Amino acid sequence: MSNQLSERINNLVPSATLAMAAKARELRASGKDIIGLSLGEPDFNTPDYIKEAAIQAVNDGYNSYTPVDGYVELKDAIITKFKRDNDISYDHSQIVVSTGAKQALYNLAQACLNKGDEVILPCPYWVSYSDIVKLADGVPVEVATSIDTDFKMTPEQLEAAITPKTKMLWYSSPCNPSGSIYSKEELRRLADVLQKYPQIVVVSDEIYEHINYGVTAHASMGAFEDMYERTVTVNGVAKAFAMTGWRIGYIGAPAYIARACNKLQGQVTSGANCIAQRAVITALLESPSRIQYMVDEFKNRRKLILGLLNDIDGFKCNEPEGAFYVYPDVTAFFGKTLNGKTINNASDFAMYLLEEANVATVTGDAFGNGNSIRISYAASEEDIREAISRIAEAVGQ
Ligand code: PMP
Ligand code: GLU
Repeated sequence: MSNQLSERINNLVPSATLAMAAKARELRASGKDIIGLSLGEPDFNTPDYIKEAAIQAVNDGYNSYTPVDGYVELKDAIITKFKRDNDISYDHSQIVVSTGAKQALYNLAQACLNKGDEVILPCPYWVSYSDIVKLADGVPVEVATSIDTDFKMTPEQLEAAITPKTKMLWYSSPCNPSGSIYSKEELRRLADVLQKYPQIVVVSDEIYEHINYGVTAHASMGAFEDMYERTVTVNGVAKAFAMTGWRIGYIGAPAYIARACNKLQGQVTSGANCIAQRAVITALLESPSRIQYMVDEFKNRRKLILGLLNDIDGFKCNEPEGAFYVYPDVTAFFGKTLNGKTINNASDFAMYLLEEANVATVTGDAFGNGNSIRISYAASEEDIREAISRIAEAVGQ
């Protein structure tokens, strides 16, 4: 029988982060000693007070369908969190709980984009943004940045990228993969440009909000009065609460957009997992200081990995201010032949590191910036030391 798959799925590129993690798993199963620094996944356990809330929910008999857009008590907790951490006021009609921030983003693309609508993506952007946009027949418009501007988009670049077809702007701050954070002043300058283009909806992905190393304070586009009506604030518990597998993300949005996402979910998932939702009520209502120990540890690891990488000629690192990735520019290796293998681009380099150093990273091409590779330091200190020492050896140092 011929291939009966849709063009849509045939054209879809697999998630590079998940693909690399799967490849690392496969190689490990075949006996190779692979160190996985490809996936953005904390190596911590979910904190006990959150686990206990989930166990309590099971024992209390939470097993039925939840409201499609989330339990009222969870929405209350999310409203409290947005007010407490971001100074944004939302009501129940503006909150939608989803199966991870990834589904929240997918909902937004499906809810807002018509064929040919353009979405501005400052590069590097999180790997799935462009494909989620394409799945909704939108057109990603990549805005190149470089390590010299700490991978941030300037107001001039934003303005130059806007066309009559621009419908949305999507970015993450702290940024996956660069770790860069837009300060309140920088966001204000972007918002000033957007004042001239009231049709543009902003998606501010703040899932790494709490993983902030204290240089630039977290700021939210939705907190600006003149942006509130057209900003969607995306967040989730996967990263800061070490809850990747629990699959809960959420948005605060203009009510008409929240309604649209709710309608979509009602036909697609019926809502997020009930036990995980109950646990997230506790995660969000407890003080963020309870998860600071993980942030402190990530900060130590950041220092460690930056020190080790900066000792290798050819790795040029920015200092990430948040999240748990380094995104070194590795263009110095392009055109070189190492151990008989020619490195032409970041994908070749990431593959070389996997094969020669047994270290899994992710090519920068997946993030719309082909000069870098992404290395996650959400791994043990021991693994980080061993991985970077293997990388140094593989590049002949
Ligand atoms: N946004 C960014 C920037 C991410 O790095 C991720 C990866 N987890 C997501 C969204 C998706 O998060 P979730 O696991 O909640 O779907
Ligand atoms: N967000 C994580 C990452 O960038 C998890 C993988 C994924 O969801 O693609 O590695």
